[in-house]
Amino acid sequence: MAEFTMELNDDQKQVRDWIHGFAADVIRPAAAEWDEREETPWPVIQEAAKVGIYSLDFYAQQFFDPTGLGVPMAMEELFWGDAGIALSIVGTGLAAIGVVANGTEEQIGTWIPQMYGTPDDVKVAAFCSSEPDAGSDVGAMRTRAVYDQAKDEWVLNGTKTWATNGGIANVHIVVAVVDPELGTKGHASFIVPPGTPGLSQGQKFKKHGIRASHTAEVVLEDVRVPGSCLLGGKEKLDERLARARERAAAGGGERVKNAAMATFEASRPAVGAMAVGTARAAYEVALDYARTRTQFGRPIIDNQGVAFQLADMRTQIDAARLLVWRASWMAVAGKPFTAAEGSMSKLYASEVAKKVTAQAVQILGGNGFTREYPVERMHRDAAIYTIFEGTSEIQRLVIARTISGMPIR
Ligand SMILES: Cc1cc2nc3c(=O)[nH]c(=O)nc-3n(C[C@H](O)[C@H](O)[C@H](O)COP(=O)(O)OP(=O)(O)OC[C@H]3O[C@@H](n4cnc5c(N)ncnc54)[C@H](O)[C@@H]3O)c2cc1C
Repeated sequence: MAEFTMELNDDQKQVRDWIHGFAADVIRPAAAEWDEREETPWPVIQEAAKVGIYSLDFYAQQFFDPTGLGVPMAMEELFWGDAGIALSIVGTGLAAIGVVANGTEEQIGTWIPQMYGTPDDVKVAAFCSSEPDAGSDVGAMRTRAVYDQAKDEWVLNGTKTWATNGGIANVHIVVAVVDPELGTKGHASFIVPPGTPGLSQGQKFKKHGIRASHTAEVVLEDVRVPGSCLLGGKEKLDERLARARERAAAGGGERVKNAAMATFEASRPAVGAMAVGTARAAYEVALDYARTRTQFGRPIIDNQGVAFQLADMRTQIDAARLLVWRASWMAVAGKPFTAAEGSMSKLYASEVAKKVTAQAVQILGGNGFTREYPVERMHRDAAIYTIFEGTSEIQRLVIARTISGMPIR
């Protein structure tokens, strides 16, 4: 008989508590310092590497949790610690997943170790897709990759922007156009090895939040990479392009679009889980503060005006987590996302994080507005969740198109 439970099993609780311990003891105490410094927190990444949290093995273990809850649980705890530092820790994973998902065994074996380095000499990796004129509109990408058959090399030219770890990464994964006639189906991903001439960091952005995470432009000028750096290899690319051309000629392309959609639906809940972590962190600070801060001779939580806000905050955080967990479970169970449930979870959790962190600032009054208390930072950090990995408007577009079957614009 099929069993239904919403309780984590003992193994999951153990992993969750271990990650939480690291977030509480190592990440949280370092958060204010690295936010002010606006620099990559190398010592914290190194600590994470030493305990095994900064490694591909860690993600693989969470990823293969058969309930689907391993990844969201890990993300929630790390981002509960601090969003900027947590993104510095998981940023490499985002690039590494691209290699694991699309690379050959040889590429995985060669490049993943170079993305992470060793606990004594940690490295980071960057995933570079967005461009100044191609943010939500990925189809407007201009970075070109041209094959030089005589040398079996690809030549990359273009400017990438908003790249997490861009320019400081040991290995960059760069998405580029190989066939402009095919739109997004004419894109391919390339590994740019450490020290490749022609790749440089453009401006480093001074950000509103997640300031411990490095975000920068990446400029590619006649960057030559060996043919072996095309993710998945040339044969697979040629086959894929040939299929896309055939479909384009036949006026189709739905199947490729659906496969890409399914990938996004499966990855978006992880971002939702990050948002839940930040929201929960701010809610906990606000709850503690409301219990201890006294005005008019009683704790401020004695007022419904404050207590009801906290009740709403907690309700929305729990609802967001349930949406995230549902979508994560659907992804591993192979359930079809007939209502774009992955996008739904990211949309709702990110909006909740913005709202809850703003309420936390309000509950802390003047203190909430200062850098003496962490909710000020959490509120700034929360603003990223409705922007990256597809803005809230794009999530709504995806959900609306999926539930209506109409080409909503
Ligand atoms: C801190 C940070 C880290 C990032 N890390 C990475 C990374 O590592 N790698 C990477 O490749 N990218 C990264 N990004 C880029 C991120 O994914 C983009 O910023 C995001 O996709 C939005 O693109 P855009 O900024 O160009 O905004 P735009 O696409 O220009 O959107 C501007 C506004 O218009 C709205 N809009 C656009 N089109 C529509 C539409 N059709 N309907 C309704 N509204 C619409 C948007 O929702 C938004 O509100 C990062 C961004 C930030 C800020």
